[in-house]
Amino acid sequence: SIMPAMLSAISNSARKGLLFKGGAHLERVSHIRAIAFDKTGTLTYGKPSVTDFLTYQAWSEEELLRIAASIESLSTHPIAKAIVDKAGELSLELERPSDFQALAGWGVQAGLAGEFWKIGKPGFFEESGIDEQILSDVRKLEQEGKTVVLIQNAAGIAGMIALQDAIRPQAREMIAKLKELGVQVVMLTGDQRLTAEAIAREAGIDQVYAGLLPEDKLNIVKTLKEKYTHVAMVGDGINDAPALAAASVGIAMGAAGSDAALETADLVLMNDDLDKIKEAIVLGRRTTRIIK
Ligand code: ADP
Ligand code: MG
Repeated sequence: SIMPAMLSAISNSARKGLLFKGGAHLERVSHIRAIAFDKTGTLTYGKPSVTDFLTYQAWSEEELLRIAASIESLSTHPIAKAIVDKAGELSLELERPSDFQALAGWGVQAGLAGEFWKIGKPGFFEESGIDEQILSDVRKLEQEGKTVVLIQNAAGIAGMIALQDAIRPQAREMIAKLKELGVQVVMLTGDQRLTAEAIAREAGIDQVYAGLLPEDKLNIVKTLKEKYTHVAMVGDGINDAPALAAASVGIAMGAAGSDAALETADLVLMNDDLDKIKEAIVLGRRTTRIIK
């Protein structure tokens, strides 16, 4: 009968770190024809570290990093944490900025050392006002899969910080297996296009949506549903929660995941083990066959 097959499938998978929040999702996951992956924290660890630091004004590297870290110390973003950690490694003394403001999906701004600073993704700034040399530095670093953050004051771009976020080792093989199962794979990210494409290339994903705000992720999942009907979304962040809710099956990273993502998801990968996504589909298909 239906129940024993389903219950044993669900409890067996829970023991392996794949948590279904109900039998309906086991059936639903068997129909999935497309999967959208968030990049940061999902395909990657979401723990970037600073790799490059460039200055374009008279500020010394140390002073500019100290200013950036002082401002970022008020942000909870993983990029902010990496910048603060870098300043910590160099034992730089942080200061309290004034008028701090975080602009979700863009960056931060605040006053410090007699100047007003904006720190964020290149798209946060008017590109026409940026030097060609600086833009070429941005492109070079982004093509290496790094995320670039610019630091701007009244005089223009003062510096640049590049960060690298390592891709999870299971990502590439998992994506290949999903393709073998006939599932379309896409990447969704708030990061810039060149960075996103470099990471997508590493993961073996051909379809990339970059520069997204949280509501854009939701809208893309809705559009994918119009085309593929049965669409899964995999994510970790509070900014993924609306897309996870809209997907046919929302899948959250159990360890890296925010509370909002975990609560919204239908399926949780307890150890952030991406391999379990393929197992979920295979198990769903097998169980649904037994039942029918
Ligand atoms: P993701 O989808 O990559 O998790 P977010 O929506 O959190 O992205 O942020 C998008 C981009 O905005 C980041 O890649 C970064 O460039 C920029 N950004 C966001 N918060 C900050 C911050 N505190 N400091 C600098 N840059 C930031
Ligand atoms: Mg994320």
